[in-house]
Amino acid sequence: MSHEKVMCSLCNVRPARFSRHGVVKADADHNMCLQCFRSVSEKNFQNRLKTEPFDENMDLRTQIKWLRKRIEKIEDEVFKLRKEQMERAEKTLMRAIIDWWKR
Ligand SMILES: [Zn+2]
Repeated sequence: MSHEKVMCSLCNVRPARFSRHGVVKADADHNMCLQCFRSVSEKNFQNRLKTEPFDENMDLRTQIKWLRKRIEKIEDEVFKLRKEQMERAEKTLMRAIIDWWKR
């Protein structure tokens, strides 16, 4: 059966992305469906972000993604700090109210 669809090597649910007449093209990345291919590329990219420093020679799209990721991380940290501050302030306020109530 030469026209049989080749299934994705990862999920084995959806057909592989670049198979033609049941033959998957040579490139290793082409034996996956679009969804799996994307999730693998995204994972690779995220790993690269973790390990590779910012490099001006990266293509613009990668630079923007890299910077965006960094901003997200900083935002998360600021948010976390803010939350801790708010919780501390809340506790202090509650303590003050209780003390005032007990007088
Ligand atoms: Zn798949």
